Amino acid sequence: MNPTAQAPLNQSRSIERLIEGIATSDGAGVKLTRVLTGKLQRRLDPFLMLDAFGSDDPDDYIAGFPDHPHRGFETITYMLAGRMRHRDSAGHEGLLESGGMQWMTAGRGVIHSEIPEQKDGVMEGFQLWLNLPAKNKMAAPWYRDFASLDIPEYVAEGNVTVRVLAGASNGVAGAITREDTEPLYLDIHLPADAAFSAALPDTHNAFVYVYCGAVKIAGTRVESQRMGILSNAPDVGGVTITAEGEARVILVAGKPLHEPIVQYGPFVMNTQEEIHQALDDMRNGRLA
Ligand code: FE
Repeated sequence: MNPTAQAPLNQSRSIERLIEGIATSDGAGVKLTRVLTGKLQRRLDPFLMLDAFGSDDPDDYIAGFPDHPHRGFETITYMLAGRMRHRDSAGHEGLLESGGMQWMTAGRGVIHSEIPEQKDGVMEGFQLWLNLPAKNKMAAPWYRDFASLDIPEYVAEGNVTVRVLAGASNGVAGAITREDTEPLYLDIHLPADAAFSAALPDTHNAFVYVYCGAVKIAGTRVESQRMGILSNAPDVGGVTITAEGEARVILVAGKPLHEPIVQYGPFVMNTQEEIHQALDDMRNGRLA
């Protein structure tokens, strides 16, 4: 297969800020690193949260996330390794396996569980929360599971493997596209010292998270387990990522909604009243 030609970039967005995630636990005690937290929601609009989980100790993940609600946004779960079973209040059920992704639109409400289906070995992956525009926050819930083979992948110059989870990259359409937030979500595997460039619209907020090895972006080193927020200088065109040794990185970008963000745990709405409504609906069995 011929490597896909990359659009040449004259310049790269630079690293505005490096973020070290915060070790925390969620669900029934799953240990994870919260990389994108509430404080960055405005800066990284339309993204609300990024959790990285990765452990070979079952005690860190085995209890999973028992029944819990969501309203007002989308959750994207990408498994690098391991297996996770999800079940929801509408009777849907699915199994996410290594390399697979679940894209869920919570819309007006979902109650679901996410439970690891393995007793040992490594479980590693990400959960990203993507906001919905106000007009879609109360839309009907929806989800789709993508097996690893359903995720478009291409090989770029320098033998760089690019998995296109969302959006489009160098002409390759991803598994999902979204109109209002236009998310781009790439999982990029770089051989030692390889470089990869991705075009990014000026309007989009963007970040990288390095989960293996280290990379350099416009002269700044981003090491493993770090998020680098990319600057939004106009007319730069995109980002160039150069590996130091072998490296694996996710690149996430999206068009900001510029709408008020009011979060209360698993509910993300535009106003306090809508949060009260969500809590009331939850208490009265009307959420999902
Ligand atoms: Fe959930």
